[in-house]
Amino acid sequence: MQKLNKIKLLRVHYIPKMLEPGVLYVSEEFGAALHLCACGCGLKVSTPIGPTDWAIEETTAGPTLEPSVGNWQLPCKSHYFIRAGRIMWADAWTPEQITAGRQAEEQRHRAYFENRARQRGSVLQRAWRWIKNLFDMDR
Ligand SMILES: [Zn+2]
Repeated sequence: MQKLNKIKLLRVHYIPKMLEPGVLYVSEEFGAALHLCACGCGLKVSTPIGPTDWAIEETTAGPTLEPSVGNWQLPCKSHYFIRAGRIMWADAWTPEQITAGRQAEEQRHRAYFENRARQRGSVLQRAWRWIKNLFDMDR
C-alpha cells in the first residue's frame, strides 16, 4: 500500500461514486467531504463539514482539514492531518485515543445543540414578552 503525502481539493456538487486517490471531494451544498484513505487501503473516508464536524480551509497549496482524520473505524486505523494540501502522518490511534476522540466528538455535538436550544429559548421568551405587552396595552 502506497501512503500518500499530498491531496488536492475538488469542489463538486455531487460526490462521485468512484473516487480518485489524492483528491478531497467537497460538496458545500450538502456539507459533505469524502476522500479515499491516504494510506492507500482504498476505503472511503467521510468527513462531514459543519459547525460540529470538520472545517475546510482552501489555501493556494491545497486544502486544510480541521481536526485531523482518524480512521479508527477502518481496518488500517490510519491517522493523519491535512495541512495546505500535504498529508502529515500521525501515529495510529491507541484504544485510549479512540475513546477520547469519540468522547470529544460527542461533547462537541452536545455543546453545539445545547447552545442552539438556549438561543432558541431566549428568542421564544422575547417573543412571548412582546405578545404579553401588546395585550397589556389593549386593556
Ligand atoms: Zn487506510
